[in-house]
Amino acid sequence: MCATQLRSLREHVRSLFAARVAGVPALPAALSAVNDALSRAPTAALLYWDDRRGPYRAAPCPVNEILDRALAALAADAADLLTGPDAGRLNSCGAAPCNRFLLSRGRRHWCSVRCGDRARAARAYARRARSQAG
Ligand SMILES: [Zn+2]
Repeated sequence: MCATQLRSLREHVRSLFAARVAGVPALPAALSAVNDALSRAPTAALLYWDDRRGPYRAAPCPVNEILDRALAALAADAADLLTGPDAGRLNSCGAAPCNRFLLSRGRRHWCSVRCGDRARAARAYARRARSQAG
């Protein structure tokens, strides 16, 4: 059940990233899923006061709230990325059928070395096939 909820949030975050990259409006269901996850648990560290050490901040993490806290933290990271200074660098991986996203830097179009190698190999194969056909 935990995995199902995490996977569901991942799909909604992917949908929001795809909408941001394509410059189209977000799906309302994806927005409410992320907002729901954000409001499940406070992500800010709370203020505590130790009798000897004095004040300190720490995130409360009772065992039974681990899933809610994980969902909230993931949703907060996604929301920060979508609204932060790196949002314009968000791109989908250029190596189909990969469905990951990356923050573009320079001429990088792939999420990983593996995807880059696969895309380059596919291009080389297509070039060879064209030159043999013609
Ligand atoms: Zn990829």
